Amino acid sequence: MKTKPFNSFELAQMQFDRVSEQLGLDAATRELLRWPLREYSFAIPVRLDDGTMKVFRGFRVQHNDARGPCKGGIRFHPMETLDTVRALSMWMTWKCAVVDIPLGGAKGGVICDPHNLSQREQEQICRGFVRQISRNVGPAVDVPAPDVMTSAQHMLWMLDEFEILEGAKSPGFITGKPVGMGGSLGRKEATGFGVVFTLREALKELGIRLQDTRACVQGFGNVAQYAIRLYQQIGGTVLAVSCWDQEDQEAHTFRKQAGIDLDELLAITDQFGGIDKAKASDLGYDVLPGEAWLEQDVDILIPAALESQITADNVGKISTKVKIIAEGANGPTEPQADATVNDRDIFVIPDLLANAGGVTCSYFEQVQSNMNYYWVKDEVLGKLDVQMTSAYIAVSNLARKEKLSMRDAAYAIAVRRVAQACRDRGWI
Ligand code: NAD
Repeated sequence: MKTKPFNSFELAQMQFDRVSEQLGLDAATRELLRWPLREYSFAIPVRLDDGTMKVFRGFRVQHNDARGPCKGGIRFHPMETLDTVRALSMWMTWKCAVVDIPLGGAKGGVICDPHNLSQREQEQICRGFVRQISRNVGPAVDVPAPDVMTSAQHMLWMLDEFEILEGAKSPGFITGKPVGMGGSLGRKEATGFGVVFTLREALKELGIRLQDTRACVQGFGNVAQYAIRLYQQIGGTVLAVSCWDQEDQEAHTFRKQAGIDLDELLAITDQFGGIDKAKASDLGYDVLPGEAWLEQDVDILIPAALESQITADNVGKISTKVKIIAEGANGPTEPQADATVNDRDIFVIPDLLANAGGVTCSYFEQVQSNMNYYWVKDEVLGKLDVQMTSAYIAVSNLARKEKLSMRDAAYAIAVRRVAQACRDRGWI
């Protein structure tokens, strides 16, 4: 029998409750941190290309800004909900705190499916989103960024609308902008590379040679593609990737025993990270069911698609060979599955640490945009490596010292820092 899927916000609150219990937080601090500080829900009316009007629903949630301006992506997704955005905003607060950048957490979303929208219609959604929220965001308040199904182009439309409303240039309003239009070099690589920086450290800690490992990746979008790029560059083999098939309305896994060829697959992948099934088959890939990525005899799993993908129902399918799960996606592992994974001694690099490279580089972009002075790519990626490695070491040291899982240790560091900032400001 299938278990009921978790509501992401309930999951985020459950994780927070566990940590606040371990840390012995007082009741007021718990109440403050288990809910967002501010939430905005609004309508975005758009005239479609066929002349009809359609009203889309948008959300922006600011979970906590005690450590600095809020930061977080805007997702376009047909299944978006306020609760998903709340959960993601809370995870952003912890993520910024665990990598120790001076920002708080936010998230945004629009219920829409870009697959079925023209470029012009998407532009109107972006501009409408900014018109609704412009008074409540800004370089010193809340700085949006791209996320699932939004790109540098979407960020530029949003920036343009914001600057029209402000009557002034304000490149620090948003990150993930195109390079040459205020974007940072290294941003598109940052999340995926960050996953691999932490993975490299975990392998060192476990005494495993990266060159001897094989991995499976769920998802083939921004995070997955760059995680695969760096992991392969430093000697790893990717056995399989999976992605969503828009036509079939289900996911597929693409496997090649000798290891996937990233460039070959990129050449047959659409802008949403969907691989052409027929062409992949012609290139010799086994086309398997969506969950097959989870069942392979590999050392490493990298879920890099969506939340709630490793569940009580499928966790038993993970091979006994798997030693590490590096969470590229946000919230990919549900709590019951997490407990099973811990019992099986699989080493989890939790999402708030593993995928924090994106927000770290966004912070670098904010700094560059505010200075109007841009760094070379090596400088950006070098600083990213230093920040991610330091965060990994801090989490791993605490985990060993206090005999915690990596997830609990990362949460403990993050929640302590945010709670302390709230106390220092006199909020509680
Ligand atoms: P993306 O839209 O570029 O790619 C998503 C990929 O997941 C696509 O290949 C899609 O086909 C695939 N996918 C969707 N549903 C699937 C399913 N059921 N099974 C298998 N594959 C599926 O998104 P992204 O930017 O790569 O983000 C992926 C995850 O990483 C999300 O959870 C996001 O919140 C998180 N994340 C992204 C960033 C970033 O900088 N992009 C930063 C931190 C966290």
